[in-house]
Amino acid sequence: MATSAVRGSILSFTKDPFFNAPEDSHTFIEDGLIITQDGHIKSVGPYTPQAAEGLTVDHYKDAIICPGFIDSHIHYPQSQMIGAYGEQLLEWLNTYTFVAEQDFASRKHAGKVAKIFLQELLRCGTTTAAVYCTVHVESVEAFFEHSSALNTRMIAGKVLMDRNAPAPLLDTAERGYEESRALIEQWHGRGRQLYAVTPRFAPTSTPEQLDAAARLWHEHPGTYLQTHLSENLGELAWVKELFPDCDRYLDVYKKFNLVGPRSIYGHCIHIDEPDFADFNRLNATMGHCPTSNFFLGSGCFKLFEAKKAARPVKVALGTDVGGGTSFSILETLNEAYKAAQMNQTRLNAFQGFYLATRGGAEALDLGDKIGSIEPGYEADFIVLDLKATPMMEFRMDYAKTLAEKLFVFMTIGDDRSVRATYVAGRKMEF
Ligand SMILES: [Zn+2]
Repeated sequence: MATSAVRGSILSFTKDPFFNAPEDSHTFIEDGLIITQDGHIKSVGPYTPQAAEGLTVDHYKDAIICPGFIDSHIHYPQSQMIGAYGEQLLEWLNTYTFVAEQDFASRKHAGKVAKIFLQELLRCGTTTAAVYCTVHVESVEAFFEHSSALNTRMIAGKVLMDRNAPAPLLDTAERGYEESRALIEQWHGRGRQLYAVTPRFAPTSTPEQLDAAARLWHEHPGTYLQTHLSENLGELAWVKELFPDCDRYLDVYKKFNLVGPRSIYGHCIHIDEPDFADFNRLNATMGHCPTSNFFLGSGCFKLFEAKKAARPVKVALGTDVGGGTSFSILETLNEAYKAAQMNQTRLNAFQGFYLATRGGAEALDLGDKIGSIEPGYEADFIVLDLKATPMMEFRMDYAKTLAEKLFVFMTIGDDRSVRATYVAGRKMEF
């Protein structure tokens, strides 16, 4: 039995701090000990020499240990074009994305990028992500192979597109269905891998393909559905042209039975109360991707509208690389704070860290497996360094409370803040 022990200050959430007082929402053990066994957390509590007896302990001073970060929306093939200049969504897709994605017909190329991508996620402290591959089966196989080798809990799927993209990136409703079905059978539930049926967004799928996507999703209980919704105004106008019988963008996905538990909708910028009410009623999830929304000039997600106590909507953070500009969830939180400010609301540090960990896990229907440091949970956690840079060390000297320290992480923290990442109890190399 593989046992490991980690000592340090331990933060974990027990409730949603959007609806509960921060002090009632989390646990913090100043000098704690996590013991893991066979990939799961066996025990967590205050450190004592007796508790650690006979174990080799990784002791992290000047650090906070928290659950691994969760990214609900990211495109691994876009790693090679992150930070591409000058366009908004639709032109950006045509100019950069649809060019880069054509490389993934090559299994070799896909493998190379999947490896770098997963390494970068772990280096930034992200242990679970919902990932878009490309239309090519090879891109999905390469991704799951590398994720399996690392034993990371990942959600991923083959992009479905049968119109409005370059010919090499198109499948058909039938082919997309068959290829996805085979991938689900091969990968969904194999080790820690999970499958997401992935129509890119309404404009690149015919009604026949959206219908096939819904069949795939419903025929395979436990799989996810991931797509994009209401990111950019040009996109909204285009959807209206393509689906004239649908009043609202969300109506397109509702019409094809694509909204429900374990469906993840990236962005959700230009939406209103009826959409929030539908998400609540249908138990669907919104992926909040602020670095991307600012980079592509899309707008500000209304986080506190979504998290309204009367009809809460499940929200997780997303980086949306390569529309997003960073793999780091800490940098994403920095931009989420600013997006909230632009809406005249304030995202506090406990709310931020909740979204990054337990909140993200719950929004992805994995709240009983990951996102918390509690006995029985999968042992994915990270070590955040209070002294990662000279400036961080200096600034932390003036942060007296846990709330202040966490807020400094979420405003000036980044990949350098992550001293170690543990996946299923194993310390990862990066
Ligand atoms: Zn996206």
